[in-house]
Amino acid sequence: MFYPKLKNLKKERIPDYSIDKLDWWLGTRRQNTRKFVNPLQFSLDCNIDINHALKLFSYCTFGQEVKLLRKKYVTLCPICEHRIATNYQEPVKKGIRCNNCETDIPNEYFVDHISIFFELLESPRDYIPDIELESESIIKKAPSLRVSEVMGNTDEDIRRLCPPKKFFDML
Ligand SMILES: [Zn+2]
Repeated sequence: MFYPKLKNLKKERIPDYSIDKLDWWLGTRRQNTRKFVNPLQFSLDCNIDINHALKLFSYCTFGQEVKLLRKKYVTLCPICEHRIATNYQEPVKKGIRCNNCETDIPNEYFVDHISIFFELLESPRDYIPDIELESESIIKKAPSLRVSEVMGNTDEDIRRLCPPKKFFDML
């Protein structure tokens, strides 16, 4: 395995199949993408149900024995898609201006442009850089995971990927 600690997901009753897929997928990310891991890309590449993928990412973020990921909120400019801010606790709130296109962005616009990404906290045990390169050309690019998509999820494990409720109250 690339990440042997993922075996601990069995305690959360995650099937071996999902654990193996996640291990392979995380283990074959290129170094420069390890700080912007997108669960929807995992779902698409490995044909894993989105909610199941988000649950796995949640366990890998909050589970003490599988802690492998750190979540972060990335705010993109709604006009030009420039990355305006990256935050680990809560997304940025007020007075946001895009330095790229110099637009002042009203709150109601930018709340739909916050995405959740994950950082891989560890390097894989056996990194084989060539595995991925071959298949890369046929991989479809998944959209990023918007906070707005996760907010209404009824699964507690998935919803905890969202910023705290007080963040939305202040908007
Ligand atoms: Zn902009």
